[in-house]
Amino acid sequence: MSKTILIVEDEKNIVDILSFNLGREGYETIPAYDGEMGLTLALAKDPDLILLDVMLPKMNGFDVCKTVREKNTSTPIIMLTAREGESDKVLGLELGADDYITKPFSMRELLARVKANIRRTDLLTAHPTAPVGGVDGGRLERGRILVDPALLMAFKDGKALDLTPKEFELLRFLAAAPEQVVSRETLLEKVWNYEGFVGDVRAVDVAVRRLREKLEDDPANPAFIITRRGLGYLFRMEQ
Ligand code: CA
Repeated sequence: MSKTILIVEDEKNIVDILSFNLGREGYETIPAYDGEMGLTLALAKDPDLILLDVMLPKMNGFDVCKTVREKNTSTPIIMLTAREGESDKVLGLELGADDYITKPFSMRELLARVKANIRRTDLLTAHPTAPVGGVDGGRLERGRILVDPALLMAFKDGKALDLTPKEFELLRFLAAAPEQVVSRETLLEKVWNYEGFVGDVRAVDVAVRRLREKLEDDPANPAFIITRRGLGYLFRMEQ
């Protein structure tokens, strides 16, 4: 069955180019030319992925992203941001976007990211216990944390954590190899499924920050996920 991608973008020529190229790769596309329409279609059509521009009439991309995420945590969202807006990129990720692509973007990079995000969701939904990102499918008991890949859930002191699929995958990957430093590039490759130089390591930092807010007793002084400056992150056994 072909995958559906919702394109929320007010510049018609960009929508046309995206629709053409995604169509050629076998995706169905749904265009939305303003934020309100984008939000309505995101909720009504339940697409497999959303490409979301920031500057939109009626409702901006951040508000669309935030509202979609309040109702649905699993659909991958890739924000399309302007090159100048460094803070835009991080804000989108903070609001629950999975990634962003800077305009003007290369079609090759965009297609690679769309594919990576959809493949990831597919693996999780079709085979919840199958290895994703090279981690085996077994339950991980790590001190106060339990990661259960079959349930796609993680628990802290026996209480379920409300994680997005990406946050879950990140935690599972780090917890699979406790006390080992994992570089941000490796996380991008294994958790985000990005190959080569696609992707931005800042997406990893923001995801780690969001995960810590849900995981840590004190997110400012993390006890579970530790930063090794310049090297990456590690999951600590002794919490
Ligand atoms: Ca726009």
